[in-house]
Amino acid sequence: MDMNTIEAVVPTTDPAEWRDGDAWLAGGTVLFSYGSTVLKRLLDLGEAGWPAVTVDDAGIELAATCTVAELYALPASEAVAGRKWPGLDLFRPCCDSFVASFKVWNMSTVGGNLCTSLPAGPMISLCAGLDATATILAPGGSSRTVPVAAFVTGDGQNGLAPGELLRSIHLPASSLSSKVAFRRLSLSNLGRSGVLLIGRRDADGGLVITVTAATKRPVQLRFAAAVMPGPAALAAAVGRAIPAELYHNDIHGLPEWRRDMTLRLAEEIRAELLEERLTVSGDFWTGPSGPPHATSPQPSAQP
Ligand SMILES: Cc1cc2nc3c(=O)[nH]c(=O)nc-3n(C[C@H](O)[C@H](O)[C@H](O)COP(=O)(O)OP(=O)(O)OC[C@H]3O[C@@H](n4cnc5c(N)ncnc54)[C@H](O)[C@@H]3O)c2cc1C
Repeated sequence: MDMNTIEAVVPTTDPAEWRDGDAWLAGGTVLFSYGSTVLKRLLDLGEAGWPAVTVDDAGIELAATCTVAELYALPASEAVAGRKWPGLDLFRPCCDSFVASFKVWNMSTVGGNLCTSLPAGPMISLCAGLDATATILAPGGSSRTVPVAAFVTGDGQNGLAPGELLRSIHLPASSLSSKVAFRRLSLSNLGRSGVLLIGRRDADGGLVITVTAATKRPVQLRFAAAVMPGPAALAAAVGRAIPAELYHNDIHGLPEWRRDMTLRLAEEIRAELLEERLTVSGDFWTGPSGPPHATSPQPSAQP
């Protein structure tokens, strides 16, 4: 889409250059598809030159400009060869949740996905599910870090102040080392995520379940090893953590459906990570391969 109010495109990564009427430009897949009638300049991150991915013993650092395609390639790359990180199994299912064209897949960035802050942002799901932190640079020269789960505050809303730049996202080795589980549902085969849950069983025995897509912002439930929930306790905890108005409502799913599926998938994840037999009721359960349009981690084809 043409943006005929734009007067300049400025290649920069310096928040001090930001002024009213500016927007950071990453892959442009949102900016150029939604358009704007008010923006005057685009601050282009395309020449940032930040390494897309940096891997060390502390975990994985993703530049905000890392593309979905680069992230998809990571689990099979030399960069993580020899690392026994089960959390890597989440990368491709999360990328695949981004049901997008070749062009969008190759242009859109992790940072752009977080900053767009849609409930169905699959990079939000991945990063929140792994307790990632976001590093944010401010126009005054300061920087701060926030958990990604807290960075997104609502549908299309986040904690960025005017001019702030999301620089990078850090995925800690402790979370990457956890046993993980992934569940996603969409109303149609190639549809946008309606419910996406990620579970972790950490080295200390704790259980973390992160709910995204179903809710307007990420919601995390944490249980210490000493107080592992049974099915009823988990359902009660989900009910306390997610009031009715926090479930998202759009063409990709009614809030009531998202709530029911959140409860169901949370219980599936609990049973999987605690290695318990799944006991679910309801006539839509079709067996271990799951109901139609459900996905769990498995090798997936290139788009
Ligand atoms: C066909 C299609 C399918 C899509 N499917 C999905 C989907 O399933 N789920 C989903 O969430 N989105 C989807 N999108 C929306 C979009 O493509 C993604 O959210 C994408 O990840 C945005 O990244 P980008 O780099 O293109 O962002 P851009 O368009 O460059 O920027 C998006 C916004 O984020 C800001 N921004 C970007 N980077 C930074 C930064 N580093 N610091 C501060 N602000 C920044 C920009 O100023 C702008 O406001 C889809 C889009 C299309 C066209």
